Amino acid sequence: GRWGFGLAGELRQAAARSPRRIAVIDDQRQVTYAQLLHRAERLARSLPVAPGERIGLLCRNSARMIEALIGATTLGADPVLMNTGLSAGQLAAVAKDQGLRVLLHDDEFAERAALVDGVEKIGEARFEELIAQAPAANSSPPERPGRTIVLTSGTTGVPKGARRPTPGGFRPLCSIIDRIPLRAQDRVLIAAPLFHTWGFAGLQIALALRATIVLRRRFDPAAVLDDLVRHSCSAMIAVPVMVQQFLELPEPARKPALRAVAVSGSALPGGLATRFMDRYGDVLYNLYGSTEASWASIATPADLRFAPNTAGKPPYGTRIAVLDPDGKPVPQGEVGRLFVGNEMLFEGYTNGGSKTMHEGLLATGDLGHVDAEGRVYVDGREDDMIVSGGENVYPGEVADLLADLPQVRDVAVIGVPDEEYGQRLAAYLVLRDGETLAPETVRDHVRQHRARFCVPRDVVFLDALPRNATGKVVTRELPR
Ligand code: ATP
Repeated sequence: GRWGFGLAGELRQAAARSPRRIAVIDDQRQVTYAQLLHRAERLARSLPVAPGERIGLLCRNSARMIEALIGATTLGADPVLMNTGLSAGQLAAVAKDQGLRVLLHDDEFAERAALVDGVEKIGEARFEELIAQAPAANSSPPERPGRTIVLTSGTTGVPKGARRPTPGGFRPLCSIIDRIPLRAQDRVLIAAPLFHTWGFAGLQIALALRATIVLRRRFDPAAVLDDLVRHSCSAMIAVPVMVQQFLELPEPARKPALRAVAVSGSALPGGLATRFMDRYGDVLYNLYGSTEASWASIATPADLRFAPNTAGKPPYGTRIAVLDPDGKPVPQGEVGRLFVGNEMLFEGYTNGGSKTMHEGLLATGDLGHVDAEGRVYVDGREDDMIVSGGENVYPGEVADLLADLPQVRDVAVIGVPDEEYGQRLAAYLVLRDGETLAPETVRDHVRQHRARFCVPRDVVFLDALPRNATGKVVTRELPR
């Protein structure tokens, strides 16, 4: 098409229609749509990568990151969005695994980047030089636009690189506005990291809406609350743990006038959803999805008022099936394997690994069920399900239950090997300041609400849970 595909196409279109509109406000500056496009296009002419090569971006949320992302795809290179939480060792491993030519990074990560061998590095000063010294426009567009590679969270091991499809934001946009009241020219604060699938999706959507995008390098709940008010934001894109941090702040004198707070990336505890809406109004939207499937279902505030733990309904263009191990649909209400079909499924992994498909639907690796009105509930990951003494236990369900205890600030429940029962439950709890809780009280609470085999035998108190950048608990880092 005339505009081209993907993010670059969205940006060209936005810049043509609203050149003077502010595209991004970040910690350092604000840029208009025309400026953002101008800088991305100059970068595309000077970046030392060839079409088809891969360039890693190790950046916190900023206008620069968007320029790099769009600049790379414009010249036909494939940007790989690197998780800023990776250690030096993991970073080197991912760089090698993904076959990076160049690593573009914030200065903050210079030390870690320097330890990655055989890859050309571009820091912030060099980035500005490349833009300043770009040759005059001459090149014709590349034969194929670059494809963004988004890494999975690595919750279950080494992050996998998922190739996102090239079509622009229009289809995703239709499925979003089907359930979430976002509008053209909204002001959207993207608090989720842009390198993560949900932050990246937020960027796609915001560009397609010609929104003004507010970004901060770090998530500080008080500062973000202030930004929401100061910049009159109408929407926020976040991960559930951010919502939790918001609730830990004292009730603000001036509340932001939000129409939608959309969270995704990990399970949203039901109690949290209700508490958030009681304070900030019925504006919370919970999206269930993954790097591979994009988003598969969306819970509206009405859904969450009806059932606080629901992931809602599949939006326009999306289908969800709950199948048994033989690929047959399970009866309504029963738990089975969740499969998703939509036009936003990933195109495959870059580093081996195959996707499991069934009649055009993608296996999510999650277990769940659907209620009589079609609302989806995610019961847990297939791999996390515990079999204790022959009984199936979903650790997330027990964690949700423990999160309701007033003394508890944060909680994770996992299965650990057990000689007698095969597996048993271990609960890790972070208590609120000044609170105490006896392990037996914890067990009693579960006993009152759930079957005997759901009661955690191990109850461990920690100062904090190990969480990754998107707020997921890194279970392999929990003490055993
Ligand atoms: P890896 O594949 O490397 O282990 P990951 O699966 O954690 O990493 P993501 O793609 O970021 O990487 O996470 C997707 C998973 O997160 C989903 O499959 C699901 O288990 C969980 N998830 C995401 N959103 C929700 C939600 N709203 N409710 C419940 N679970 C969710």
